[in-house]
Amino acid sequence: MELAAARTIERAAELQERGNVASYIPELAKVDPQKAGIAITLANGATISAGDCDEQSTIQSVSKVFTLALALGTVGDRLWNRVGREPSGSAFDSILQLEHENGIPRNPFVNAGALVVTDSILSNYQPKEALAEILSFVRALADDETIHIDKAVAQSETETGHRNRALAHYLASYGNFNNQVDHTLGVYFHQCALSMSCVQLSRAGRFLAFGGAIGAGEARIVSHRRAKRIAAIMITCGHYDGSGDFAYRVGVPAKSGVSGMILAVVPNVASIAVWSPGLNKNGNSLIGTQMLEQVIRELDWSIF
Ligand code: GLN
Repeated sequence: MELAAARTIERAAELQERGNVASYIPELAKVDPQKAGIAITLANGATISAGDCDEQSTIQSVSKVFTLALALGTVGDRLWNRVGREPSGSAFDSILQLEHENGIPRNPFVNAGALVVTDSILSNYQPKEALAEILSFVRALADDETIHIDKAVAQSETETGHRNRALAHYLASYGNFNNQVDHTLGVYFHQCALSMSCVQLSRAGRFLAFGGAIGAGEARIVSHRRAKRIAAIMITCGHYDGSGDFAYRVGVPAKSGVSGMILAVVPNVASIAVWSPGLNKNGNSLIGTQMLEQVIRELDWSIF
């Protein structure tokens, strides 16, 4: 397995086409597109890693799996009155469907849906407390108290996040918002700026690979059924309008972020985090997808 991870990084380094780093969040535009890292955490807790696997990046939309788990824990299935569970077939920040579907976002992973999820967590807390709750959840999952929020990236998105602001106000106009729009947006921008290495992210994602527990024989963080259901949404919606292509090429549940991070889970086998900042046309990591495609093929880990 060490060999598979190392080979994946070697092949990634040879690829000329790197994709484009996200520039609509100015702080993300500064990141070097040559970076590539991978970390694989197994059921016994061992982590195998290669490349820029210890370098920090914000996790952006990968944070949406953690907030979804938290929100389901807080409000349970009532969450599904406010957000759907169907693929959107449109871009992550699209507003188009919201009008047709009366302010109910298609799924919790498009931005509109993730804003509703964060809004539901916030209903029980002040913004600072909600953020502290998200941070301590992720730290506990990864068993790593050093995980923090990158303030510069959060600030950068706060200054330029007009699209998310528009989505939030639009949701509020349909009555699908419980808190002050600025409060929910503030928590959302900061959760997206959670900063982690591939090693930390693969460890934080273990509970989704191991039926809700952080490893074989460990206590459950969420129920087995809930972990399976979150993974189902990851495979159908985790890569936005590129989800079908990702399932076809890679074949495991996964969630991407515009920083070029992807968290993938191989049920009962491993959680994998990859990072490479250049994105494809759907806003998913170009090289990250190729790395996952290769390593999962080599290890024969597709769920299909
Ligand atoms: N913070 C980003 C945004 O809301 C996250 C989007 C993403 O990673 N796809 O635009």
